[in-house]
Amino acid sequence: MWNRVTEQGFVLWRVKAWEEYSWLVHGFTTRDWGNLALHTGDSQGVIIDNRKKLSNALGIELASWVTGSQVHGTNIQQISHLERGRGAFSQDSALQDTDGLITDQTNVLLASFYADCVPLLFIEPQRKIIAMAHAGWRGTLGQIDANMVKQFHKLYQVEPKEIEVAIGPSIGPCCYQVGQEVAEKFNEDLVLQKEEGLFLDLWQANAQQLFKLGVIPEHLFVANICTRCYAQDFFSYRREQLKAGRMAALLYKREGF
Ligand SMILES: [Zn+2]
Repeated sequence: MWNRVTEQGFVLWRVKAWEEYSWLVHGFTTRDWGNLALHTGDSQGVIIDNRKKLSNALGIELASWVTGSQVHGTNIQQISHLERGRGAFSQDSALQDTDGLITDQTNVLLASFYADCVPLLFIEPQRKIIAMAHAGWRGTLGQIDANMVKQFHKLYQVEPKEIEVAIGPSIGPCCYQVGQEVAEKFNEDLVLQKEEGLFLDLWQANAQQLFKLGVIPEHLFVANICTRCYAQDFFSYRREQLKAGRMAALLYKREGF
């Protein structure tokens, strides 16, 4: 379950079960914070100002942000203080060809950007490892979630049953109409046939994959909130096309825990 909360007068969504983790800062932004992605049409100055507003509200400086240049791929990068600031002030410095970020370090804010694609947030609360992945249909089909679970094990010897995963607000099966050529790449039970055409359930697709990998149901938190339906809070590429801004998914590990 996710909660709609207010931070400095602006709305954020958070995983209810994660609010008790005082070592963790996390959230998914809304339109309140404006467009947060540098790779969109808005002026760089406006985006940087929006990012600063968010940074100030969270008490984390913008120089700590780390972002990837998302390409709907499945590459995941381990982040240390060496990557601090990559993509924070310019898109050119974002980590190339990177749709997933993972770290056990403090003082780096993992950020990724969305306007319908599925944000996957991962934590391991014992050793305090944080990670996120950008999963549209390509990333889901390419199993970026499986790659992430693999990285947890390879880098930190964490078992799937120890990982908690949250699926954030994103386009739902109510609105995610796809062509036959996309639909047929997925299991039949993930595709809804309606009068208007075929609709893909990316939430269920990711949930199924995560369970198969060994993530336990009690550790999966699905927002079940559609960005296209919920115009009050979210930008949506399907609804707004090129004018769509981007929300940010955020994860940060505080020092001193
Ligand atoms: Zn919808």
